[in-house]
Amino acid sequence: MVTTPQIVETRANLRERIAAWRAAGERIALVPTMGALHAGHIALVDLARENADRVVVSIFVNPAQFAPHEDFDRYPRTIESDVAALEGHGCDLVYAPRRDEMYPEGFSTRVLPEGGPSDGLESDARPHFFGGVATVVTKLFTQCRPDIAIFGEKDYQQLLVVERLSRDLDLDVAIVRAPIFREADGLALSSRNRYLSAEERAAAPFIHHTLSETAALIAGGGPLPALLTQAAQALASRGFTVDYVAARHADTLAPVGSAAEGPIRLLAAARIGTTRLIDNVGVPAPSH
Ligand code: AMP
Repeated sequence: MVTTPQIVETRANLRERIAAWRAAGERIALVPTMGALHAGHIALVDLARENADRVVVSIFVNPAQFAPHEDFDRYPRTIESDVAALEGHGCDLVYAPRRDEMYPEGFSTRVLPEGGPSDGLESDARPHFFGGVATVVTKLFTQCRPDIAIFGEKDYQQLLVVERLSRDLDLDVAIVRAPIFREADGLALSSRNRYLSAEERAAAPFIHHTLSETAALIAGGGPLPALLTQAAQALASRGFTVDYVAARHADTLAPVGSAAEGPIRLLAAARIGTTRLIDNVGVPAPSH
């Protein structure tokens, strides 16, 4: 039987549902999202199901992680089709709080990652971002008190920041990593892909192609800084405005100077038209 997940909008209703599961000794997974669900999100829900008895999907477009000039107002809000997409995937509950449920009048606290995996990359381009993410994730974890939470490697820096946050603040939530879900042509699925024009959509997989090629060259012993510069130039020549193409240590996101300092993760952010895309790939262990 295909069940439709129930929707709750308040912390009180969320707690009531969760208390019953917890009393029954069930293991609870949380999948935080901003909605506009696609197959990448659904893969996270399936992974949650494999690792827990109960699955809560939160849908909340978090104003705290958008700067005033960013796309908060135009970010897609598609709650009805989101709930329909979750049918048959073992999601028990959708938690879709309203803005004033999360940030009531007078709200004046912020959880601010400092250093560690939050250093540079997205923080340079979007200085407000990880404070907003850490604040909402802390709230979602304390509201839901899940045993585990699923985060995608698509947002690799965010994933490491959240792992650090859960440890640093003793939130006691085990973070489960989900691999990047891609289109057949390599483009990582993203709610923002729907902003792309046909021409931009055709160019977008070039980010992944460039990262994969660069990763292979690094693994083959090529010179790291030169290869990163070359990758950024290749993206620029295809019409992207590049925020960064960077090599970082895969576990800590500390800068690395050569393949020997790995394991390495290559990360990139670039704009095409008005849409900002991010992607990342692992660098295979050096081949010699
Ligand atoms: P978002 O709704 O964009 O905030 O994403 C919610 C969660 O889904 C985050 O943990 C993302 O990393 C993850 N996610 C989004 N797109 C993908 C993808 N293509 N593959 C894997 N995880 C993804």
